[in-house]
Amino acid sequence: MIPNPAVRITESLLRLLYPERCQLCGDQPASRAEGFVCATCQGSVRWIERPLCERCGLPFEGDLKHAFECPNCVEGDFAFGRARAVFVASGAGRELVHRYKYHRAFWFEPLFDRWVRRQSLPEPPGQGWSGIVPVPLHPVKRREREFNQAERLARLLGAALGLPVRADLVRRHAPTGTQTRLSRKARAANVRRAFGSASDADLSGTRWIVADDVFTTGATTDAVARILRGRGADAVDVWTLARGI
Ligand SMILES: [Zn+2]
Ligand SMILES: [Zn+2]
Repeated sequence: MIPNPAVRITESLLRLLYPERCQLCGDQPASRAEGFVCATCQGSVRWIERPLCERCGLPFEGDLKHAFECPNCVEGDFAFGRARAVFVASGAGRELVHRYKYHRAFWFEPLFDRWVRRQSLPEPPGQGWSGIVPVPLHPVKRREREFNQAERLARLLGAALGLPVRADLVRRHAPTGTQTRLSRKARAANVRRAFGSASDADLSGTRWIVADDVFTTGATTDAVARILRGRGADAVDVWTLARGI
């Protein structure tokens, strides 16, 4: 078959724009199918693996056989059941998320897709999920950024699990700026006030997975879970691409 000249031109243009080099180290070769991240850099990503806190998914060093909850979860009152993430948000993992979110590095998506399928499918899935709810951005921020990274990631997870993505249930009506100077409690209260219900739908009998790019303190995903539970949802779990540890 004679290759379509338009396809050939597009491919050479793409190669010019995105040479087949690793976008993290700029050194090793890496193909589009690899998300332009070389094997060495991929190998330096730390996976979130057991043993971990049953609740928030914080990995725990050591040989722990029984179910365990971290001190933070024993004290806290998260509205979600379990939070799980694919990789640790440090080193190469942190760089991947940062570039994806702030520099529109959508070419990482084939890689994320592979990792989501490999690392996320055993859990949180289970059965009977109603769908995936991405953490919404404030409309102004959404306009500035032109995309919501949580929604794009929710679509990857949704495709992997065969679940619909529902971005119409929760809204963000207040932007939450830098909060580093606030205490953990004050921050959580602030974040909680930033979200509201976007529909009057009765969610009784439904179960949701809230999706976001990074889980840090859990305040954001917890606030979204709280809205869904407040509308009657039976269960809400959290899934994020990365997680601070
Ligand atoms: Zn590399
Ligand atoms: Zn925990």
